[in-house]
Amino acid sequence: MALPLTRSKALQRRAETLLPGGVDSPVRAFRAVGGDPPFLVSAKGAYLSDADGNRYIDLFGSWGPMLLGHAFPPAVEAIREAAGHSASFGASTAAEADLAELVQLCFPSIQKLRFVSSGTEACMSAIRLARGFTGRPFVIKFEGCYHGHADALLVKAGSGVATFGIPGSAGVPNETVMHTLALPYNDLSAVEAAFAAHPELVACVILEPVVGNAGTIAPLPGYLKGLREITRKHGALLIFDEVMTGFRLAPGGAQELFADELGGAPDLTTLGKIIGGGLPVGAFGGRAEIMDYLAPLGPVYQAGTLSGNPLAMAAGIATLRSLLEQRETIYTRLEATTAAIVEGIARLAVERGIALTTNRVGSMFTCFFTPSAVTDFTTASHSDTAAFARFHRAMLERGVWLPPSQFEAAFVSTEHGPAEVDAILAAAAEALHEVQK
Ligand SMILES: *Cc1c(COP(=O)(O)O)cnc(C)c1O
Repeated sequence: MALPLTRSKALQRRAETLLPGGVDSPVRAFRAVGGDPPFLVSAKGAYLSDADGNRYIDLFGSWGPMLLGHAFPPAVEAIREAAGHSASFGASTAAEADLAELVQLCFPSIQKLRFVSSGTEACMSAIRLARGFTGRPFVIKFEGCYHGHADALLVKAGSGVATFGIPGSAGVPNETVMHTLALPYNDLSAVEAAFAAHPELVACVILEPVVGNAGTIAPLPGYLKGLREITRKHGALLIFDEVMTGFRLAPGGAQELFADELGGAPDLTTLGKIIGGGLPVGAFGGRAEIMDYLAPLGPVYQAGTLSGNPLAMAAGIATLRSLLEQRETIYTRLEATTAAIVEGIARLAVERGIALTTNRVGSMFTCFFTPSAVTDFTTASHSDTAAFARFHRAMLERGVWLPPSQFEAAFVSTEHGPAEVDAILAAAAEALHEVQK
């Protein structure tokens, strides 16, 4: 069963002569799963359409932003309206404070924030701010957590870096990462040990409070609370990278979902993806006392020509407004739809005797081709990536587009419903059969 991809193949060959690998972000090239990537021409709700007229149920949601589905009408309308008033001014507009207020409604821990144009920028800037505020050099991150591609954070990062099996990246000098400590996720004793080894030198601990970039991994009970306690004890800042989880797991992200067991909010939070409704937006924010260390008030420099871009703010405002208006219904729906998909796939795997571990938190999930529990990057990397590649290809051929790597989370939108669940499970029933061949 092969997809008709004549036009996509031709477009890929052309792109390869102009763009390295034919792509602007490595994972789009499908190297981890093989085959040619379909070229997309449009998408609506839960469905993607490619240049050859194939249709797919979307389970990667533009890597997270499309919580409310593609071409979400209020966002489309807001972008059209804003575009008519100029795409950019390079001066302040009321829309920035409007979106900031909405973010604050979702995240009470964010007293002040700054908008940037990507999740990478948000994390890079939050780290600089944490170092500036504490006057300390070291950053603790966790293996398999991805915080964008800034030099200092490309150490044992997940996502594309994990997909390609390279420990970091060429072009990053040792001196740049010598203050980055990468520890195993879900292991508090490793964090205690790192603080003991570098007393009063750790500026911050940054993490994905639910990991998505090594595939989906939940924090073990007590883990987030433990990190809050340890960082507080040692005068280091706790940074939640909620670029993926923010607005997805709850309006207030993982810090809302796990509020009861957290024992205090993070000092800083980074956001991206959903916050821009598909346009390039990131943000970082937190306690006002820390945020006021930023220029022009404070000594930590940070800037951006297109930061707070009017089109991006308009898309973000339309998205967050709708999400807040429907908060009573959308998260229950996302939970039910995603549970039906994941439990269905798990049941099919059991019936076929395939060793599959399914991890799910809200509308994020991953099917790891391994018999054992996945709680950190090491256990994730025991997965059979060749089996995943066969599964991915077989699903794509049946009209279901999963993220093209074992080490990425799949995403469900509010536009996915019972019909899509049935179609996904029908495809999975056949695709799992192909995995065994
Ligand atoms: C996607 C992601 C980033 C990077 O965001 P970009 O917009 O791709 O630069 C950072 N952190 C997490 C947790 C992410 O999922």
